[in-house]
Amino acid sequence: MEFDFVIIGAGSAGCVIANRLSADPRFNVAIVEAGGRDSSPWIHIPVGYFKTMGNPKTDWCYKTEPDPGLNGRSIAWPRGRVLGGSSSINGLLYVRGQARDFDGWRQLGNVGWSWEDVLPYFKRSERWELNSSPLRGSDGPLSVSPTRLKRHVVDAWIESAVNAGYRHNEDYNGADQEGVGYFQLTSRDGRRCSSAVAYLNPVKHRPNLKIFTNTSVEQLVLENRQVTGVVARKGGQSIRLKARREVILSSGAIASPQMLMVSGIGPADELKSHGITVRLGLEGVGKNLQDHLQARPVFKCNVPTINTEIGSIFRQGLIAAQYAISRTGPMTMAASLGTGFLKTRADLETPDIQFHIQPFSADNPADGPHTFSAFTASVLQLRPESVGHIKLKSSDMRDYPALHPNYLSTRGDCDTLVEGIRIARNIAAHDPLKSLITEEHTPGDNISNDDYDALLDWARQTSTTIYHPTGTCKMGSDPMAVVDPRLKVHGLNGLRIADASIMPAITSGNTNAPTIMIGEKVSDMILEDAKS
Ligand SMILES: Cc1cc2nc3c(=O)[nH]c(=O)nc-3n(C[C@H](O)[C@H](O)[C@H](O)COP(=O)(O)OP(=O)(O)OC[C@H]3O[C@@H](n4cnc5c(N)ncnc54)[C@H](O)[C@@H]3O)c2cc1C
Repeated sequence: MEFDFVIIGAGSAGCVIANRLSADPRFNVAIVEAGGRDSSPWIHIPVGYFKTMGNPKTDWCYKTEPDPGLNGRSIAWPRGRVLGGSSSINGLLYVRGQARDFDGWRQLGNVGWSWEDVLPYFKRSERWELNSSPLRGSDGPLSVSPTRLKRHVVDAWIESAVNAGYRHNEDYNGADQEGVGYFQLTSRDGRRCSSAVAYLNPVKHRPNLKIFTNTSVEQLVLENRQVTGVVARKGGQSIRLKARREVILSSGAIASPQMLMVSGIGPADELKSHGITVRLGLEGVGKNLQDHLQARPVFKCNVPTINTEIGSIFRQGLIAAQYAISRTGPMTMAASLGTGFLKTRADLETPDIQFHIQPFSADNPADGPHTFSAFTASVLQLRPESVGHIKLKSSDMRDYPALHPNYLSTRGDCDTLVEGIRIARNIAAHDPLKSLITEEHTPGDNISNDDYDALLDWARQTSTTIYHPTGTCKMGSDPMAVVDPRLKVHGLNGLRIADASIMPAITSGNTNAPTIMIGEKVSDMILEDAKS
């Protein structure tokens, strides 16, 4: 089978690229996805992430290695394994990041990636329901809407944050990110708008687009320094797809570096130790891993929250009926409702922490909510200094690699997270929230704000990922860079990488929107190069 372009992975970025490249009828495009079709209704009902996360039909179910920064704990790292990739199982939260993130990428030497350069691609992708600002897009494929669900406890959190001195922000994706408010969601008419829904499904009948599902790419095919195709496995059969022009690797921040390494591209010593013939030594493959770590203070309260609202089968039935009739109510709930982009120090230029306010609480989201009424004020550091890495466990793509996030390994990261927890407590100490709270469930009143070590230890013992691994095939021109600013792999022809792995530094917020932007931008670069 021969195509002009072969895209590996139909995730947030891959679906965008498949759409944009196949819009030109001169090109034959194949997109190869290890997971199945996005036919489960739970993918499309926003609250369905409770069902799709941790489910091997839709989630790769990775786990990290025991992490010293988490007191030796190993934690779940879900990743979408279905059309739409992680955008089909994510929390729907739409966040572009800060202008300075992309100006920072540009400052590292990545020509074409400043905020001014990438803004048109954010706009091109987006259909923002409120169409409130010239900075927002209104006719793109990706529907973005305000949350349909509001809750008293979230309103109270926002009001209390304002009373604590933070400002309200109507649009954190507009001119300035700073402030508190409700999240914006990748949703349309109360349903999830994944990358597959936005970009792939509407064009799946194009005659020049072939979508392979349940097909796992096992290796890249190299002829000297030219990548000419892929070897994949479908239903126990090995198949070869030839790429006349380019292969685009969009398998995400875990599988993309793994794919390079099993194909002989990566740190030479590591490849040799697994018996892999080194085709190209590239030290940076799998390095520069960054993620957002969330600490999750929980406050018990005297008003109903989702914990108690869904407490009986009867109530659950009413909630399901409400959704069926009007696509409103708790089933439209994204992973969080409220947010705040705040500064831990007044002298900072832009926010360095983000809150996710959830009108529910759980010890572990997969275990279901607590039986008492409570809300969670999750807080994370937006630009962590800690950097981890990914290593192979074997030369076989089917063996999951070792994931070493290396959380909280710098003093600056520890200080910022501890200060974030103190800010969560400070907001909770202001009215109207104060009068709703009956008890701080965690960290708990036995840990005082002055006890830095105890707060940090609680964070190490209980924090978890907010699912944003990035940076493992970073863009740049330094010796650890894997791709150049046109996302071509250094030292090879015919191979680009386009997904969250190319971010040289993690963005200040949730990573789906920037990954879709990367898909939009690389598509233009590929088409420009193909035409010339
Ligand atoms: C549970 C969860 C919640 C999240 N919540 C949010 C949120 O609310 N807001 C937000 O902005 N971000 C969120 N994120 C992060 C965001 O969704 C990701 O950063 C983004 O989707 C990454 O896109 P990607 O294209 O890099 O990879 P993915 O979207 O993960 O796509 C990679 C694709 O490649 C496929 N693949 C992998 N290996 C192979 C192979 N060998 N052969 C063929 N195909 C392969 C995978 O199955 C997958 O479909 C969340 C992520 C998760 C997992």
